[in-house]
Amino acid sequence: MAVQPLKDQNIAVIGGGLGGLCAALCFARRGASVTVYEQAPSFEEVGAGIQVASNGLRVLRALGLDPSSAFQGEGTTLHDHLGRRVAVLPNSSSREVRLFHRPELLGLLEAGCQDAGVRLELGAKITPEDAPEADLFVAADGVKSAFRAHVAPDLAAPEFSGQAAWRALVRPPKPITRGGVSVYMGPGAHVVVYPIQQGELINVVVGEDTAERAAEGWQQEVSQADMAARLSAFGGPVGELIGRAEKVHLWGLFNHKLPPRWSEGNVVLLGDAAHAMLPYMAQGACMAFEDAWALAASWEKYDDPDAALGAYESLRVPRVARVMKAVRANATRFHHSNAVARVIGHTGLRAVSTLAPGLIARQFDWLYNYDVTKV
Ligand SMILES: Cc1cc2nc3c(=O)[nH]c(=O)nc-3n(C[C@H](O)[C@H](O)[C@H](O)COP(=O)(O)OP(=O)(O)OC[C@H]3O[C@@H](n4cnc5c(N)ncnc54)[C@H](O)[C@@H]3O)c2cc1C
Repeated sequence: MAVQPLKDQNIAVIGGGLGGLCAALCFARRGASVTVYEQAPSFEEVGAGIQVASNGLRVLRALGLDPSSAFQGEGTTLHDHLGRRVAVLPNSSSREVRLFHRPELLGLLEAGCQDAGVRLELGAKITPEDAPEADLFVAADGVKSAFRAHVAPDLAAPEFSGQAAWRALVRPPKPITRGGVSVYMGPGAHVVVYPIQQGELINVVVGEDTAERAAEGWQQEVSQADMAARLSAFGGPVGELIGRAEKVHLWGLFNHKLPPRWSEGNVVLLGDAAHAMLPYMAQGACMAFEDAWALAASWEKYDDPDAALGAYESLRVPRVARVMKAVRANATRFHHSNAVARVIGHTGLRAVSTLAPGLIARQFDWLYNYDVTKV
């Protein structure tokens, strides 16, 4: 992007996570003067995997970033909890997924920001009361956003969903050279497995129904034995993988309502600050990347800030709401606790996958084929 349509604009981005750094780069590539304020002493992501699907990859590539160092996933395969194949969701020319180690993805965005001249202020915790001067504040301060309460003070507090996510990394006996995402669907839980870091590591994420309320965030380390006990019904490769997991962390999953508005004055919400969602479509960060592009494009298009922020919200709310609806459907599909419902559900999926290969995957074309950089 050689043109500098936003060269007179000062943009402050609060939060240097995946959404904040992507937003910073979207504005900087349009010529804006951008500062990212991150409360942590360094840019940090947890040592876990993250899937970035085609709709998110389009944003990264449009920003001049090259995701090819990440593991190229070969589609998604659904299994039952004993490891028997239920359905295959293949990749296609417009559907791709890259499997990143999170620090690798954050590093890619950070390098892009450095290259584009973004100022990066670390150890800088900003509150709505002491925000520095800027034309626009992009609040990308994550799931526990302080700016969300400023923008939408009447928003109901998030509620514990009755589910938790466990994550662990496992080192395979030898590096994996080919593969994709495997999902194992069992009673009250599902397990997602995929290779990262040139196949040197396997990322394992478990979504589990639980009455035990856990905190929202990865701070809680739990024992490998606990995770193994909870997944004792799982056979196939899952049991073996869990047995080799070293550190296990737990994240309590909360239902967040979408705020009735995404901006107040010159403060606008982006990423998890606007729409934290359950991880069952692996789309939270992809939605943040789409937000980032859409916001910078609207800010460039409209002279009037209210019109720009209104256009951003109008574009993003229906899209994010549709993804959140698909997430809820997956929560049911993946976690049939009732054995009869599970067998019926899996039999149906297996039949459709066999009789009409590609049909299940095509149901999500609206999600993966979307290109926010062309809207
Ligand atoms: C189990 C699990 C699996 C997931 N898997 C996927 C996946 O495969 N694919 C996918 O697309 N998404 C996935 N997600 C979702 C994804 O991780 C999030 O949507 C994404 O990381 C959100 O990025 P963010 O920048 O909005 O927020 P965050 O990453 O939380 O970043 C917020 C940043 O703001 C900083 N901050 C907070 N307050 C302040 C302040 N007052 N001042 C300054 N800085 C501040 C924080 O320190 C932090 O660095 C998953 C989520 C979970 C829980």
